[in-house]
Parts: sequence; structure tokens; C-alpha cells
Amino acid sequence: MSSARLNFLGFTRSQWEALLIELGEKPYRAPQIMKWIHHRYVDDFAEMSDISKKLRLQLAELGDIRESEIITERVSQDGTRKWLIRAESGSAIETVFIPEDTRGTLCVSSQVGCALDCSFCSTGKQGFNSDLTAAEIVGQLRIARKVLEKAYPDRSRAITNVVLMGMGEPLLNFDNVIAAVELMMDDLAYGISKRKVTISTSGVVPAIYKLVGVTDASLAISLHAPNDELRSQLVPINRKYPIEELLAACRTYAATLGEKRTITIEYTLMDGINEQPEHAEQLVALLQDFPCKINLIPFNPFPGSGYKRPSQIAVRAFQERLLRGGYSVTVRTTRGQDINAACGQLVGEVEDKTRRQETYRRIAAEAVV
Ligand code: SAH
Ligand code: SF4
Repeated sequence: MSSARLNFLGFTRSQWEALLIELGEKPYRAPQIMKWIHHRYVDDFAEMSDISKKLRLQLAELGDIRESEIITERVSQDGTRKWLIRAESGSAIETVFIPEDTRGTLCVSSQVGCALDCSFCSTGKQGFNSDLTAAEIVGQLRIARKVLEKAYPDRSRAITNVVLMGMGEPLLNFDNVIAAVELMMDDLAYGISKRKVTISTSGVVPAIYKLVGVTDASLAISLHAPNDELRSQLVPINRKYPIEELLAACRTYAATLGEKRTITIEYTLMDGINEQPEHAEQLVALLQDFPCKINLIPFNPFPGSGYKRPSQIAVRAFQERLLRGGYSVTVRTTRGQDINAACGQLVGEVEDKTRRQETYRRIAAEAVV
């Protein structure tokens, strides 16, 4: 099937309305079609019985409803599920479902690989291949929902939250991510609350400003260090957009979200790198008056990473210091580690266009010797 044909899976409400008007149809057909696609998981226009035959044929001529294929599904001992999914580019991406008592979180990928190369991230070491389309991004939610509804007909395992924390940097695939997020939140599609759809970024500052007025999804930033010197080593994009600029952009976005909405600060703790008392104290000072909650992520190891996870005592001590500074601080529990589904462990099958895999393997091999 040619990828040049439209994939209606990624069509937003306004795109449907515009297309219907162009075809001489009434825009109120949009909700009917969207419900077929996203609520009833129909992939064939012929099945849309309340749509005229003429319109069904017209749509089928323009494109299809193409869902990506699941290559494998793995289920962790703790109930976490990881799917390897084939993208249209031929590479494969990973999607993870994390069930908890009161919620179910789907971790979605936005790109095949990542161009940014943060020093502690396994996806970054894969290099970059391509952007995912809006259909491929929102399609991960459709696929996961279908699997879970089948496995739990009583809906006891529902997806209540979506985080764009899988493979890729969401804000470097801006338009596709925004369209997909819009569908995730639209009642005619997946109807997830805007507070519960979170875009995570390593700090693409101009794109954070672009979010203003375009979406009201939640935002998380991957800070990982309380000063520019250290952050530039861990998160290379900091050399271009330093912390002060990043926080200013986030403030602007947070202000548009209204009351009681905060930005999530993600901080991956690495032994001997960024988890000492002075780092906690610098962080307390840095985030004064910044509307945030802090999420600490104990580092998840992968072969050749060169970093270690701090002890649980060190993690608690770091958390304590931030709590004493007056912040709301959670520690992300590690889930799905037995199936390599934890944060930063997602690799998929990336046909690397940046040749970073080659370089990284060489460095890792040299480090072992
Ligand atoms: N590119 C985006 C979203 C994907 S990464 C971003 O960087 O924000 C999701 C989160 O996992 C980020 O905060 C990232 O820094 C963190 N992460 C990456 N590798 C990790 C690892 N090995 N252990 C723990 N967290 C990691
Ligand atoms: Fe890319 Fe995020 Fe990994 Fe950095 S942490 S390499 S931005 S996926």
C-alpha cells in the first residue's frame, strides 16, 4: 500500500470538516466518521453504514485507514506491556502500557530513534531515522486500547493517561505530535483529559513557545541537572537553549494553561553525576516560584551506558532535600524492566541514518577493553 495515500487515522476534526466541505458534504458528517474510526475501530469505509455510498467511495479513493502492525507483544511480570510496532518507514518503534492501581499510562513514541543524543538515553544511542506520522502516533493508542479491551472485557485495565515519553523528541516532530495529541483529547476520538496527556521535551525552546494557543496538553521537561555546565554534558541541546531560556519558555506556556496546572520536571538520577546534596540544593534554588512538580527517575541501565543507578537511600535523600525545599516530589517506580520497557530503555529497530549506532558501539567496545 503506498504511503503517499492519505491515512485517515491521523485526521483531526478540523481536517475532516475541511475535507467534507471540499467534497460538497456537510461538516456534521465528521463526528460520524470519526466515531467509526476511533470508537468502533473500523478500518474500511464500506462498513460505515450511516454514510452515503457516494461519500464512502470518494473517501476510499483518496486514502485508507491504516493501522500499524504489531510485531511482538511482551508482558512483564508486573503487568507492564511492551509492543514493538512496525512504522511505515520500515523501522520499528516501541509503545509501553503501565498499569497501576488507580490509572493506566500509555507511553507513546513520536519518532523512529532520536537525533538529540542525551548521554544517558538508549534511544539516543540508536540515532535517528524518521518522524512518525500523526496516524502512527495516535495509532499507538488505538492499538493498545484494542488489545486491552480484548484482554479485559470488563475494562478493568483502561488507558487513563498518555505520555509522549517513548522514543523520540516530540517537539522536533511538531505538527504530527500536535495533531495526534488533539485526537487523543478529542471526545470523538479517544477523549483523554488534557491534564492527562503529557508532552515531554528535552528543551526545544522555540517549539515550547509554538505550543501556546495550539494545544493545552500538559508539559514535562527533562531537566536532569540544576546548572548549565552539567546539563550541557547530559542533554546536549542545553548548549543551544540553556536552562534560563527553557524555564522562561515553560513559564509562558504554563501561564496559558490557567490555574493549578503545573509543569512536570523530570530528573533522572545517576550515581555520582547529579544526585549529590549540592545538586538538590541548587535545584531548590533554581525552581523557586516555578509552577512545577518534580518527578525523580532512578537511572535505568542499558548495556554500555557508563552510568549507574544510585542506591535507594541516595534517591530518598535527594527527594527529602527537595521536599524540604517545599516542592511536590515523586519518585517514578521502575516498571517493566524485565522486558526492557523502562524509561530510556526503548530502542525499537532503528535503521540509523545518522551512523550514531556505529560510533556508539565502537566507544562501548573500547570502554569494555
Ligand atoms: N525526548 C523526550 C521524551 C522521551 S524520554 C525527552 O527527552 O523528554 C522520556 C524520559 O526518560 C526523559 O525525561 C528522559 O530524559 C528519560 N530517560 C532517558 N534515558 C533514561 C534512562 N536510561 N533512565 C532513566 N530515564 C531516562
Ligand atoms: Fe532523545 Fe529524549 Fe532520549 Fe534525549 S532523552 S536522546 S531527547 S529521547
